[in-house]
Amino acid sequence: MSKNKRINLQLSGLEPLIITPESVFVNIGERTNVTGSRKFLRLIKEEKYDEALSIAREQVEGGAQIIDINMDEGMLDGVYAMTKFLNLIASEPDISRVPIMIDSSKWEIIEAGLKVVQGKSVVNSISLKEGEEAFIHHAKLIKRYGAAAIIMAFDEVGQADNYERRIEICQRSYDILVNKVNFPPQDIIFDLNIFPVATGMEEHRLNALDFFRGTKWVRENLPHAHISGGVSNVSFSFRGNDTVREAMHSVFLYHAIQNGMTMGIVNPEMLSIYDDIPKDLLEHVEDVILNRRDDATERLLDFAENVRGDVKSGEKAIQEWRSGSVQDRITHALVKGIDQFIEEDVEEARIAATKPIEVIEINLMAGMNVVGDLFGSGKMFLPQVVKSARVMKRAVAYLLPFIEASKEAGDKRGNGKILMATVKGDVHDIGKNIVAVVLACNNYEIVDLGVMVSPEKIISAAIEHEVDIIGLSGLITPSLDEMVYLAKELDRQGLKIPVMIGGATTSRAHTAVKIAPQYSQTVIHVNDASRAVTVAGNLLDSNKKIYASEIRAEYDAFRETFLNRSRDKNFLTIEQARANKLQLDWESYNVIKPNFIGVKTIEVALEDLVPYIDWTPFFGSWELYGKYPAILTDNIVGTQATDLFADAQKMLAQLMSEKWLEAKGIYGIFPANQVNDDDIELYGNDGKVLETFLTLRQQSQKTKGAPNIALADFISPKNNGKQDYMGAFCVTTGFGVDEKAKEFEDDLDDYNSILVKALGDRFAEAFAEYLHERIRKEIWGYASDENLSNQDLIKEEYKGIRPAPGYPACPDHLEKPTIWKLLNVEQEIGVTLTESMAMWPASSVSGYYFGNPESKYFGLGKIKEDQVINYAKRRSISTEKAMKWLNPNIAD
Ligand code: SAH
Repeated sequence: MSKNKRINLQLSGLEPLIITPESVFVNIGERTNVTGSRKFLRLIKEEKYDEALSIAREQVEGGAQIIDINMDEGMLDGVYAMTKFLNLIASEPDISRVPIMIDSSKWEIIEAGLKVVQGKSVVNSISLKEGEEAFIHHAKLIKRYGAAAIIMAFDEVGQADNYERRIEICQRSYDILVNKVNFPPQDIIFDLNIFPVATGMEEHRLNALDFFRGTKWVRENLPHAHISGGVSNVSFSFRGNDTVREAMHSVFLYHAIQNGMTMGIVNPEMLSIYDDIPKDLLEHVEDVILNRRDDATERLLDFAENVRGDVKSGEKAIQEWRSGSVQDRITHALVKGIDQFIEEDVEEARIAATKPIEVIEINLMAGMNVVGDLFGSGKMFLPQVVKSARVMKRAVAYLLPFIEASKEAGDKRGNGKILMATVKGDVHDIGKNIVAVVLACNNYEIVDLGVMVSPEKIISAAIEHEVDIIGLSGLITPSLDEMVYLAKELDRQGLKIPVMIGGATTSRAHTAVKIAPQYSQTVIHVNDASRAVTVAGNLLDSNKKIYASEIRAEYDAFRETFLNRSRDKNFLTIEQARANKLQLDWESYNVIKPNFIGVKTIEVALEDLVPYIDWTPFFGSWELYGKYPAILTDNIVGTQATDLFADAQKMLAQLMSEKWLEAKGIYGIFPANQVNDDDIELYGNDGKVLETFLTLRQQSQKTKGAPNIALADFISPKNNGKQDYMGAFCVTTGFGVDEKAKEFEDDLDDYNSILVKALGDRFAEAFAEYLHERIRKEIWGYASDENLSNQDLIKEEYKGIRPAPGYPACPDHLEKPTIWKLLNVEQEIGVTLTESMAMWPASSVSGYYFGNPESKYFGLGKIKEDQVINYAKRRSISTEKAMKWLNPNIAD
């Protein structure tokens, strides 16, 4: 096939789109993508397809020549949404005249789209990521459906991030497609991965240039193939400065097109006209994109300060919003979370008002309504809302003396009164506090009872304060039973208050199956702050009866299906499970004798822990989801994540220099052997048994050859004569956290109060990671030559494990008291256990150490009654008590 022969990429909606060598750049509309547009996501979630269609229409009217449609979101039924939306588009000729790009990372969604789309579409995307077989399979189907395809420069090893890798993957993909699948070469469109430049990282400097060179290479060497990419990625490091970003996009496109880029996903509003870019800005941007100078990034950063488009420099921006009306200023302060001028503004509003209370009811509420709407529509995120709440609280605090003086305290009830409590025995409250703040922002009065609240106290406070809703939170499994108990009590005492259930350990299943049937009123599971507002609204709305019966019906149906689900009925007896235990090769096992045996306390400087922090869960606690550091440049939450991270870094520095927290830990390493299959004896110097750990064994029927594991299997059995070892630990960074959090709360600053708790938790986990590394490398010393990065540690790539009681391999919380006795934890470092075996202070971590290189984390799964009875005997407790503690793990 001669390179010169014209074979064009021909796509179509109702009208053809033929891409010839003379064609200009084809721009792909991106707003109909749930991962890139919060608005579109909301409309699809709420099934407002009419409005969603109007977004597609705006795209086409705005000049998009192809529209990219993506329904990849955890909470969405992607197949349904894709099918439905494409069917609707088909009957809108002004939209369906352009070709569709079916965008998903899930094959079933792509295929659902291919089944209904009209015209010749483009699939976005397939790649060699999951190997050749899947790639060929998908390509064949795409060919059969008659679509073109975007091929990501991605293979089994990873994403292509330099010139050579791009060539390697494109060549290989192309050969497979053309030779093995007979895929029309003109229907191949490579996405060569556009990565950010000017990030400050050395290895990113060539990102744009490598893309251009790769593009050129593909166009010259892979006949008829095309190039596409998502352009806005290139300018991520200049978020907030649209002038610079727009210039970067045009410069990038200008060069990419010259090198042969055919099409791309671009937001036309974020694009300036190349020729209109001021000469000096152009020069700075081109220096960066083309990597023309070593100091290009710094120079552009400096220069950018002067060309901040919509974001004006400090003084000027302040002047501008300070010149608005008093209501505008109050609203601005609330939305932006600025408390600098709030008292001044509220005072001005108070003087103008007939009664001080009006300032709350009218001015502040108007501002908070804007915050509520922005949050509800996904334009604001939790950390911002919590900052808004801080401004609100300060404003209210300022007004209170005036309101009291005028004796018109009035009803602060607002939309309703909500009691919030973490149940008895449980100590965590980050999530609960965030929900409380968000509800308060939405004009609910909150009665927060804190943590470890007994059922009696919850009930009496609910009656005393005449609350409208009770919100219960719990993090560890014993809290589930507490909630069931509380529901029974509420019912017995004839209360009529609906209950919201939330917290890490709770679930819709547990709520529907175990809690709801105990209470004649509504019980509903709500696990994120944004939904809590809607749910509270529905529970108290004038249609609440209908809502309550809908929830009841939904949970009844759920319970029905749940109880009738096909369960894993095949369990072994505990004896059979033991007979199928994991048999390691103890004959050739080489025990590495610990360098240290005994118990020891340890104190560490916080500075030494910082490198061990895993930041990903930190963002999760603020409902910003995504892996660190990628989350900082995420399309949707990137800006928020970056701001939150900056606040965290600031507090981190202060927290260390002022020593707000102390890192204290204790560890022990002991001679140990497995006895009676499932137990582990720990021995003192004299050879006497110090304590015995009881482990639980998987009981479900395994596929042939797979063992039924218990943690004890990782320790050499006593009867084979080999002395083995194991350890245990407890670390805390929690002392000081509550005091600091309280100081912030007293200062009406929930944002920093939640932040310090979240950082306390991060430090505790980092301490566990740090100590575990020292155990492996030096204290026990079985992996003295280990050399792992923090990323590797987070991925648990180390040898040996540190399972924690309460977690999947060992869900039995009653093991904690054994660790406490063994190490004398309470006396030595002050960490205590609550009646539910939660550790106090909350920022604490404990666990066992297993050094065996064969040991791994696993899940116990469900167990049967025979094991529970046996366990009760081993622990010398009643079967009833054992049932209670192991309840979540017992098969029903
Ligand atoms: N880097 C994360 C750690 C998450 S928790 C953070 O900073 O939050 C990880 C810990 O949970 C492990 O170190 C282990 O102690 C425990 N764990 C994880 N999986 C487990 C399992 N299957 N059984 C027992 N413990 C487990």
